[in-house]
Amino acid sequence: RAKERGNNYQLYSPSMNEKAINRLEMEGALRKALEREEFTVYYQPQINTDTGEIIGMEALVRWRHPERGIIPPADFIALAEETGLILPLGEWVLRTACRQNKEWQMAGYPPLRVTVNLSASQFQQQDLADRVSRILKETGLDPQWLELEITESIAMKDVAFTIKTLRQLRDMGIKIAIDDFGTGYSSLSYLKQIPSHTLKIDKSFVRDIAKNTEDGSIASAIIAMAQNLKLKVIAEGVETEEQLAFLKKQKCDEIQGFLFGKPVPPQEFEKLLKKKK
Ligand code: C2E
Ligand code: CA
Ligand code: CA
Ligand code: CA
Repeated sequence: RAKERGNNYQLYSPSMNEKAINRLEMEGALRKALEREEFTVYYQPQINTDTGEIIGMEALVRWRHPERGIIPPADFIALAEETGLILPLGEWVLRTACRQNKEWQMAGYPPLRVTVNLSASQFQQQDLADRVSRILKETGLDPQWLELEITESIAMKDVAFTIKTLRQLRDMGIKIAIDDFGTGYSSLSYLKQIPSHTLKIDKSFVRDIAKNTEDGSIASAIIAMAQNLKLKVIAEGVETEEQLAFLKKQKCDEIQGFLFGKPVPPQEFEKLLKKKK
């Protein structure tokens, strides 16, 4: 977006050279940020629709840039993916989230599930299950409290590989969620074969759920499909009471969104847990 703005008054686009330099600079900055531990993990509550209680949290990475402040993942995940830096970064996020969850359990808070996003290249690692297993051992977190999220499009790229990898993870006792569900074109027959526990309705369908009959129908269809396949279903991006009412009526199991809480640093998330304890 910044790029588009910058180019508005130019008759020609920046030279390849200029772009390459920008990219190089940014790549260097990302690399240094990893070494200097400038990344941090925020947590967003996930709520049981019936009880209104927090039952889990999604771990979402942020870059705490010394000059630019908090940088959202939209501004660096793609480059991290292209450059391969997503592998050490993603593993750091996973370790941090597992360790944090275990710490909260040790402090006596009611146990919660932590959900961690996996990028495409993380998911493609042949030794992913071993890596995750090592992190669980290292942090002492019981696998039942970890859920890994892969997007529908990643899951459907190579279905045979997906099934094999998710089986390994599932057999370790880890939960699997299919993120941004509804944005891809998975057929029911594929979906049936994918060993997952949760479908996550993409927030693009939630936005106008109560106003736009088409989006409402898509959300209802996903919820019905999840129920048929005995999967849990969670809606993301829930911001209003109207959206909540719709999802409650459709019996969507869980809800995540600004209506209940934005992603926050661990110290602030702990305040939510204190209320619960
Ligand atoms: P996502 O996995 O779909 O995560 C949900 C995004 O929706 C988060 O944005 C969250 O802050 C935002 N969100 C939650 N509730 C609401 C709401 O009510 N309204 C609106 N408008 N937005 C809401 P965030 O944290 O900026 O992350 C954006 C994306 O970056 C994530 O989308 C995910 O694809 C990626 N990402 C974040 N952390 C990681 C990570 O550790 N690893 C990987 N591979 N990707 C990550
Ligand atoms: Ca996610
Ligand atoms: Ca999502
Ligand atoms: Ca998304």
